[in-house]
Amino acid sequence: MTSKTEDRADLISLLDFHVEAGVDVALDEQPHDRFAQGATAESAEAPPQQPRRELPSRDFPSRDPPKTYGRSAAAKPDEAAGDARARAAQMQSLDELEALLRGFEGCSLRFTAKNLVFADGDPKARVMFVGEAPGADEDRIGKPFMGRSGQLLDKMMAAIGLDRSSAYIANIVPWRPPGNRNPTPQEVSICKPFVERQIALVAPELLVCLGAPATQNLTGTKDGILKARGRFYPYRLPNGREIQALATLHPAYLLRQPVHKRLAWRDFRAVKTALEAPVRMA
Ligand code: URA
Repeated sequence: MTSKTEDRADLISLLDFHVEAGVDVALDEQPHDRFAQGATAESAEAPPQQPRRELPSRDFPSRDPPKTYGRSAAAKPDEAAGDARARAAQMQSLDELEALLRGFEGCSLRFTAKNLVFADGDPKARVMFVGEAPGADEDRIGKPFMGRSGQLLDKMMAAIGLDRSSAYIANIVPWRPPGNRNPTPQEVSICKPFVERQIALVAPELLVCLGAPATQNLTGTKDGILKARGRFYPYRLPNGREIQALATLHPAYLLRQPVHKRLAWRDFRAVKTALEAPVRMA
């Protein structure tokens, strides 16, 4: 029989092990006793299903009733992506789109995230920045680019006379992938119609794609970011108007590779120039 002290020491070393391994998020609301499960592993039945978290759908726009996927969303990515596309296209304002996302159950990331990270900044801004996916700070606060890479983004914007009152900021995926892993292609394809609708509703003059996932998903290029960066790509809004999308390096990458900040600085100067002399491609 083990003493309480030994149990406690085991639990602490198990937690240490998980933290060392990079685990920083609990995926279920109720804790599981892994020691007890281990002891009876041979004969154990599957652990009882946790009751599904009640999700606020009070603000859900009234057009089509929300579809129920529950945690099976991951098993039906094509269906969820089609549903996302059909619903997103119906949204006539950013408020409607945000409410739709709050009620949308088709992407399993929403079940592990604390908050929806919809956007920050001025929806009437002439420039819109799009990153990849929220991290831990953004998930906690509910706004994009709040952590270290957000601080760098703020500095880069300030260097060309922009701030969060003169720019609009969003992500390809509006929920934090657990443990900051990359979003899967399925998660991206489910979330993409939402960010595309968000871009259409903001209708900026200039879109700035921060990093490879935003660049590749919004411009269609397959080029890596070091090749794509600095280029302007045409981006067609649903009303037929063509705007420009500039690819640049993600601030998180620049924190790891500060030597490349000079490349990003070139790109940000191009943003400034484009905003000073906007070329409206009708
Ligand atoms: N990285 C992103 O791509 N988006 C955020 O919101 C934060 C970090």
